[in-house]
Amino acid sequence: MSAGVFDLFKLGVGPSSSHTMGPMTAAARFLAALADQGDLARVVRVETTLYASLAMTGRGHATDRAVILGLAGFEPATIDPDAAEAQLAKIAESGRLTLGAGGPEIAYSAADDILWQGRTRLPQHPNALRFLALDGAGAPLAEGLYFSIGGGFVVHETEFGAPPVSSGPAIPYDFVSADDLLAMAAREGVSIAELMWRNETARRTPDEVNAGLDAIFEAMEACIERGLRQDGCLPGGLNVRRRARQHFNELTRRMERNISDPLAALDWVNLWALSVNEENAAGGKVVTAPTNGAAGLLPAVLRFYDRFYRGGVEGRRTFLLTAAAIGALYKRNASISGAEVGCQGEVGVACSMAAAGLTAALGGDNAQIENAAEIAMEHNLGLTCDPIGGLVQVPCIERNAMGAVKAIDASRLALLGDGQHTVSLDKVIATMKRTGEDMNEIYKETSLGGLAVNVVEC
Ligand code: SF4
Repeated sequence: MSAGVFDLFKLGVGPSSSHTMGPMTAAARFLAALADQGDLARVVRVETTLYASLAMTGRGHATDRAVILGLAGFEPATIDPDAAEAQLAKIAESGRLTLGAGGPEIAYSAADDILWQGRTRLPQHPNALRFLALDGAGAPLAEGLYFSIGGGFVVHETEFGAPPVSSGPAIPYDFVSADDLLAMAAREGVSIAELMWRNETARRTPDEVNAGLDAIFEAMEACIERGLRQDGCLPGGLNVRRRARQHFNELTRRMERNISDPLAALDWVNLWALSVNEENAAGGKVVTAPTNGAAGLLPAVLRFYDRFYRGGVEGRRTFLLTAAAIGALYKRNASISGAEVGCQGEVGVACSMAAAGLTAALGGDNAQIENAAEIAMEHNLGLTCDPIGGLVQVPCIERNAMGAVKAIDASRLALLGDGQHTVSLDKVIATMKRTGEDMNEIYKETSLGGLAVNVVEC
């Protein structure tokens, strides 16, 4: 079943949906499986092995911390970053960890209990992690192999390769491609947003869907605002200075010039994207859109619509529903994992989603929306993932700003046309997947190539 709007837009914590949120969720699922089989109380040790990309960029992406927090009962959607920090310090100091809610307290040492197997890539996916629970005699009680497949989605090895599932009852329009989506909408005589709305209201009441959409917007807005208030350097040792607050002060100071500068709006779009991604890099609360690394792009374009076009609640909902329909196509037919297809799967997909959302909110028809989504991805094809120091900072933060501006441009191009174009969205999604498969591993969230090796860390 196609991913829904609340699968793609989730409240989470930075810096990475695949390397932070996913492993935290996997740890929680492993504990739940142990509890189900009645063995949780007998556990005295839990060993976690991180493979390939999770190991190679895991320290910069806080994967080890996420695993520990997941074992300690924290979940991405509800985590309080301050409480998590305190818990991590307590575990490190005491060498003791209480497994989930109601589990036993066990001896725990991250140095001994987390194994880093960067050179081992499991055939299914580069983001793999295995949990092993042992009893007092050192005998295995349970083992669980999970894959963090991007955007915070996690699958057990037995689920790998199955079509993406979405929570809740069946949906009326389970489109498998963009052509399918357009055909269904044409048959019903509705917009893409309306089609998504009908899917969502098959799972929830209309009030719940509206409240959920508005909550996504509010969470994105809160993240922008939080980022604008912060100063100093981002964590991780790269000494990347936070810029959003200083840019905000500068833009506010030059209000007069903003009025006469025809491109001043772009300064604000850049600012809002930077603000969210700085928050993400600092481990703050963000909305995956569709991933954490790409979390700033969509909020920046959505706020651009809201502020510069006097958006309003209906337009914002249309934006999010349309963007989610496009995101579901990538999730189903390609990937939203930087470790699998490079940054084209993160910032590229976010750009495509935002271009579609903006086009819909500005009154574009379904053909123009499909065209905007296609243009946005066509010019992100081949985008590599090469984060310096394995941190979601450089190039990630600025890349969101660039992607937001590109999404606006793609939308404007599409809105000038009649929706007729040469490369279909389905073709570009297939091309993106193939390009990702062909891409050398060093450019897929391993920090073994690109900027990650050509810029000296100091
Ligand atoms: S370069 Fe792109 S895909 Fe890689 S970590 Fe940064 S935002 Fe994510």
